[in-house]
Amino acid sequence: SSSSPAEFDYLFKLLMIGDSGVGKSTLLLSFTSNTFEDLSPTIGVDFKVKHVTMGGKKLKLAIWDTAGQERFRTLTSSYYRGAQGIIMVYDVTRRETFTNLSDIWAKEIDLYSTNQDCIKMLVGNKVDKEDERVVSKKEGIDFAREYGCLFLECSAKTRVNVEQCFEELVLKILETPSLLAVGSAGVKRNIFKQKPPPPDGAATGGCCSS
Ligand code: GDP
Repeated sequence: SSSSPAEFDYLFKLLMIGDSGVGKSTLLLSFTSNTFEDLSPTIGVDFKVKHVTMGGKKLKLAIWDTAGQERFRTLTSSYYRGAQGIIMVYDVTRRETFTNLSDIWAKEIDLYSTNQDCIKMLVGNKVDKEDERVVSKKEGIDFAREYGCLFLECSAKTRVNVEQCFEELVLKILETPSLLAVGSAGVKRNIFKQKPPPPDGAATGGCCSS
């Protein structure tokens, strides 16, 4: 890419949640593969960064994966803090992964999520295993309506609807002014800097050296 990776309009923090084995990591890898910068060895948390242009905006997506911690239900406030979007994943071939979203995960979001208007995307994964399906599409639609989520079914394996899961979520965030305010303020507080600070004593507006 010719543009600097430091240039973007908004930084969004997105989370992947749901039971172990539903395909969160595969989904994330499927979305980011070949274009991601894997920063986990550097800063010690499991997330991937992808630069995209969606809705006419240049976006830096920091997508957090649970790194297996969901198995022990040890995700805490720091995982959820500041997220603009949450992808709630279940496996259409394992009913308990669907019921746990309402019994456990939705409660955890309510408890820890710091952005009131945080956008949620319900994702039924593994639709390539249609003959093993036990959760119907209608059940997904009903859940999404009840909890105020977006909804898609996808396959991280065949890549059906993978891009759409992220894109529909991001477009909805872009339509939500309160999240955009948080997104741009978050950039300044965050380790990611949108632009380097001006050198000490630099006059504003006139300097263009780098
Ligand atoms: P996580 O624990 O939620 O991160 O789940 P993983 O991404 O590790 O996936 C668990 C298992 O499901 C792995 O063996 C994946 O290869 C498999 N898997 C993930 N997504 C799909 C899918 O869409 N279809 C099929 N058939 N298998 C999948």
